[in-house]
Amino acid sequence: MQMEIAEIPNIPAQGFLNNFLQGNGEDGEEINEQAVAQARDAMLRQARQQVEQAVQNGVLQRQEAPNRRPRIDPYSHIFEKARNIFRQREYTEICGICNQDIVRTEFLDHLEPCAQQNGKDVKETHIPKYRFLSTNYMLDQKMFAIRDELEIEFLEVLWDKETVHKMHCVLCKTYNEHLNGDCVPNLQKQAFLQKMDQMLNLHMCYYETHLELKKEREIEQIRQAHENEFEKMQKEVDQRFPSDNVIAEQNRQAEYRDFRERVAEPNAKELQEYMAHANEEYRRQYEFKKRQVEAVARREAELMKEYLLSNVCRKDLNKVIEYRKILRDQGWEAAEEFDKSTFPTPQNVPDARNEETRKWLGAIGRRQD
Ligand SMILES: [Zn+2]
Ligand SMILES: [Zn+2]
Ligand SMILES: [Zn+2]
Repeated sequence: MQMEIAEIPNIPAQGFLNNFLQGNGEDGEEINEQAVAQARDAMLRQARQQVEQAVQNGVLQRQEAPNRRPRIDPYSHIFEKARNIFRQREYTEICGICNQDIVRTEFLDHLEPCAQQNGKDVKETHIPKYRFLSTNYMLDQKMFAIRDELEIEFLEVLWDKETVHKMHCVLCKTYNEHLNGDCVPNLQKQAFLQKMDQMLNLHMCYYETHLELKKEREIEQIRQAHENEFEKMQKEVDQRFPSDNVIAEQNRQAEYRDFRERVAEPNAKELQEYMAHANEEYRRQYEFKKRQVEAVARREAELMKEYLLSNVCRKDLNKVIEYRKILRDQGWEAAEEFDKSTFPTPQNVPDARNEETRKWLGAIGRRQD
């Protein structure tokens, strides 16, 4: 019976059971057999619980050096964030042209036909288009696509090293370094940041365009208000000097000129002040958003690293990859179905990973140490 405990790896020797059974001679005589049996049962029960816990935590996955093995979570493949990514697509945005709620996935295609149907200039679609393109919703969707691509690629390399030539790389200086897997320990963080950088440049460019168009529209509105004031004045003057003769015409022109001279300076000042204010305000908004999206990218890079790291030791990596492809191509519900019918993989299923790939990964790991 005691041997059972001795075989349990990674559980600190309790010691006290041996001490108890061996006793110290004097006390030993006073211990009856029943008490010894009870104590032994209690200890074994406790040991079994610990073994169960250890199996769940994955420390028994490999008996050599169990302390150095990362914890294997049989559900580490679950990409919880994706649930929200898919749900977000079903939300609606209000179209400023027809005032209807439009599903996000159809919003961009909706704008131009909507403007045409409602007799509006195509220019009216520009502000809603660039506003939509620079939303956090679009950022999340594009970021998710980048994670999908890089993570599936990386998991495939962990499963079969022959696919490494297809894996994105921004770190290796030579092709041989890359075939050696020199960039594998980086867990694609650098590749993610580089892809994010390109995407965020475009995202911020959309935002800049959106702000610029808003500014132009407001300037146009101010000019229009000035023009309206002029026309109002013109009507009053025309009523005061309604005649068709040259004198009346001279009087009218003199009044118009007077008005223009009077409003020229305040109107110009109003425009200048607006532009100075808008430039300052929009620069502030731009900088704020830039810092915000950069922080999102950095945080996401860490989340991606954590996700990949937690899946590195999965023996059922082929299933994990399948799960991610279903998630990518068929959405959250289909992935959830697959998850329920597939995981957890039974503990006694042999390691399906490719032997060459395991050796290759082992060598990369040793170079790291
Ligand atoms: Zn519309
Ligand atoms: Zn590389
Ligand atoms: Zn730009």
